[in-house]
Amino acid sequence: MSWLKERALELMEEARRLTLEGRYELSRRYVRLALLYVAKGRTRLPPDLRRAYCRRCMIPLIVGVTESRRVKRKTLIRRCTLCGWVRRYELRREAKGGQERGSKGHSGEERPN
Ligand SMILES: [Zn+2]
Repeated sequence: MSWLKERALELMEEARRLTLEGRYELSRRYVRLALLYVAKGRTRLPPDLRRAYCRRCMIPLIVGVTESRRVKRKTLIRRCTLCGWVRRYELRREAKGGQERGSKGHSGEERPN
C-alpha cells in the first residue's frame, strides 16, 4: 500500500485520540489532512473509517463523546453532537452485535491488537 494511505490511517487514529482529549480543533485538522492524503494517494479509506468522522464539521465521531446514536425502526440514527449533522443507516440483518446505544462509548470496532 502507498505510504500516503498508511499515513492517513495514522492521522485518523491520532485524530480520535485528540477528540478523546477534547482537542476538537486539532482533531479536525488531522481528519482533513488524512483526507488530503488519501486523495493524493488516489486511494480510499476503509469503510469503517469513512464513517468515522462527521462529513460536515470533520470531527471524528466517537459514541458518547461527539456522536449520539439511536435506533428507531431498524434505522440507526447517528448524530454529531457538535454540529448536529445527522445520518441514517438502515440496519440490515448483517449488522451484528453492539447496537445497544453504548453509554460506555465503545462500539466494538477497530484496534486489531
Ligand atoms: Zn459535525
